[in-house]
Amino acid sequence: IVSIKKVHKSFGTLEVLKGVSLDVMKGEVICIIGPSGSGKSTLIRCINGLNDIQGGSITVEGQEVHTPDLDKLALRRKVGMVFQQYNLFPHKTALENVMMAPVKVLRQNKADVEARARALMKKVRLEGKEDSYPGELSGGQQQRVAIARSLAMNPDVMLFDEVTAALDPETVKEVLVTIKDLAAEGMTCILVTHEMGFAREVADHIYFTDRGVIVEHGPPATFFDEASDPRTQEFLGQIL
Ligand code: ATP
Ligand code: MG
Repeated sequence: IVSIKKVHKSFGTLEVLKGVSLDVMKGEVICIIGPSGSGKSTLIRCINGLNDIQGGSITVEGQEVHTPDLDKLALRRKVGMVFQQYNLFPHKTALENVMMAPVKVLRQNKADVEARARALMKKVRLEGKEDSYPGELSGGQQQRVAIARSLAMNPDVMLFDEVTAALDPETVKEVLVTIKDLAAEGMTCILVTHEMGFAREVADHIYFTDRGVIVEHGPPATFFDEASDPRTQEFLGQIL
């Protein structure tokens, strides 16, 4: 569903991605791990076109992302993204936040969108919080509203960039459970995460990046138990 081939990305003279290739099948969950500055966020921002690229190609469902005739709205519908900062609109309720894009961007019927938004609030286990404002919710709850907001566009792929990194340890779990639910329903998920327990349990495939290259990858069992590259071992040694 997502195919990344030999992608090169530079910011000025700094080459951040040096020929990264990675394929994601429909329904797969893949985790990207690696040291700070290795290019993880840059890579996933390339997938939904937030970053341009200088070489290689990325396709989502066969559609080239980095092409002048890209249909941005179509891509935005296909690929949902959730960041570390949830960036909810503070003066809108949780439900209104979830409804906003389908109503304003897609101009869908408000009653239909509201029904779907209520179902999504339930799905992220926030039934009863529909009328709360972001300031009245915990970090984990806000992040789940952000996930519901992304799902409201009915994406085929979800990108998560360290979505639990800013949360209290107690609320990390509820967000991971939400993502696990999504994965179990067959949503294709690409996650950058430091949650190794989650990666081991939920991921189909793990990629380790360092300084702009994928050093090593494999299914969790092989990856965690048989990682052979010294850089991977060093990283896992620090984190596990
Ligand atoms: P972290 O784990 O800290 O989030 P990361 O693996 O996500 O790190 P990136 O954010 O992708 O790393 O950054 C990779 C490199 O690209 C870093 O050296 C960073 O300084 C640089 N970089 C990222 N965004 C920009 C930008 N907009 N302009 C210039 N340099 C950038
Ligand atoms: Mg990052």
